[in-house]
Amino acid sequence: MPFVHLHTHSEYSLLDGANRIPDLLARVQALGMDSLAITDHGNLHGAWSFYEEAKARKIRPILGFEAYLAFGSRHAREKPAGDVPLGAPYSHLVLLAKNRTGYQNLIKLSSIGFLEGYYRRPRIDKEVLEQHHEGIIGLAACLSGEIALYLRQGNFEAAKASAAWFARTFGPNGFWLEVQNHGIAEEQLVTEGMFRIAAELGLPVLATNDAHYLKKEDAEAHDVLLAIGTGKDLDDPKRFRFFGQESYVKSEKEMLPLFGNRADVLAETARVAELCEFDFEKRYFLPQYPRPAEFASDQDLLVHLARLGAAERYGDPIPEVVEQRLAYELDVITRTGYAGYFLIVYDLVKAARDRGIPVGPGRGSAAGSLIAYALRITNVDPLRFDLLFERFLNPERICRLPRRRAHAAGRDGRCRAADEADPVGAGVQCDPRRGERQGARSEGGRGAG
Ligand SMILES: [Zn+2]
Ligand SMILES: [Zn+2]
Repeated sequence: MPFVHLHTHSEYSLLDGANRIPDLLARVQALGMDSLAITDHGNLHGAWSFYEEAKARKIRPILGFEAYLAFGSRHAREKPAGDVPLGAPYSHLVLLAKNRTGYQNLIKLSSIGFLEGYYRRPRIDKEVLEQHHEGIIGLAACLSGEIALYLRQGNFEAAKASAAWFARTFGPNGFWLEVQNHGIAEEQLVTEGMFRIAAELGLPVLATNDAHYLKKEDAEAHDVLLAIGTGKDLDDPKRFRFFGQESYVKSEKEMLPLFGNRADVLAETARVAELCEFDFEKRYFLPQYPRPAEFASDQDLLVHLARLGAAERYGDPIPEVVEQRLAYELDVITRTGYAGYFLIVYDLVKAARDRGIPVGPGRGSAAGSLIAYALRITNVDPLRFDLLFERFLNPERICRLPRRRAHAAGRDGRCRAADEADPVGAGVQCDPRRGERQGARSEGGRGAG
C-alpha cells in the first residue's frame, strides 16, 4: 500500500515551513503519491490554495493542522504546573478533516486557538477538543506530542492514559499513534513506547516524516528561515535548530527502512487518507431578503410592492396597459427565479435614496422593466419611451444569476448583497448564438438600472 505524507508543513507554518504549496504538490506527484495532507502549526491559512492546486493535479487534498494543545486550560496564561512532562507549556497534536463536519470543526478549533487560547502560540485545550472532535482524525504528532512527552519523561502510565483519552475522544477510526524517525535518539524510545501502547490499548500506528522542506539539500535554507523566525543569529550556538537534514518530503522507499521494515505503519497512512473525503462546496451563497411574515414567498412580496408602486406611478386604478405589462414581467421574473434579486436591489436603491445618496435614473436595458420603474429602482418610464422588457430579462437567454457581493448597508445592520456590476443591470446573460457573456454593466451603486 502506498505511503501518504500526513504530517507536512507548508510556508503557512510561518518562518518554520519552507514548502511552497505548488512545489510540495509537484514533489509528491513526482514521488508517485496520490494524496497529501498539510498540517501547518495552529492554522488553516493554506487550506484553500492547497485544495485548489491539489485538485488541479488530481491529488487528494487532506486538510488539517498541527494544533498546540495546552496542558490545562487554554485560558490560563501562567506557567504550567510542575507535573507537566519536561516542563512543556503545550504539546502538539495533528488534526485532519475526515469530512465536512470535521473541516468545520477544524475551523472552529483553529479560531478558538487564536481568539481564546493565544499565549505565545494559538492553543486549544481538551475541553474544546471534546466539543469539536466530530469528523476529525487525530494523530499523536512529533516528539512534542503529549504522549511522546510523557514517554520521554519515562512516565509510561501517563503516556498510556493520554493515548486512551485521545482514542476515546476521537472515537473509532479517529486516532492514530504516530512514529517518526529523523535520526533523533529519543525518537527510538518514543517509537518503542508507541508500539507498546498500541499493543496494550489496541490502537493503530502510522509513520510520518515531519516535512518542513522539500529535499535533503534544502535543510540549510530551512535553517536560515528558522533563524529568522526565532530572531537569532545563524552562528548563535544556543538557538533552536532542527536535528540533521531529515525533515524533507521522503519517498516511500526512503521511509520503509526507518521503521524496521514495518510496512504496516506505512500502509496505515493510506488507510487514513482513504477516510478523508472532503470537498469544498461550490455554490453561491445568496442573501435572503427579510420578508414580512404575511408574504408566503418573495414572489408574493414583489407583486405587492410592484402593484403599490405602479398605482403611485400611473394612478389608481392601474391602467389596463400597465396591468398587462406588469403581469407579463412578473411571469418572466417568476419563471427565471429573479424575485429575490429584485427585492434586494429595490432595498439597496431605497436605502440609498432614503439617505439622500444620489442614484441614477436607470441605465442600460434595466430601464426596460416596468417593475423596476414601479419599485423606483429606475426612473425611466418604459411605456412612455417604448423600451422593451426582453432586452433586460429574457428567459431564453439566462445562464445564471448575476454575481453579487456582500455589503453592509442593509437595514438593521444586516449584510445585504449588491450586484457586483450594476443594480438591476441585466445581470449576466449568455447569447446562445455566440456563447458570450453580455449584459448591461455599470459601476456598482452609480447607475441604478
Ligand atoms: Zn510537532
Ligand atoms: Zn510538525
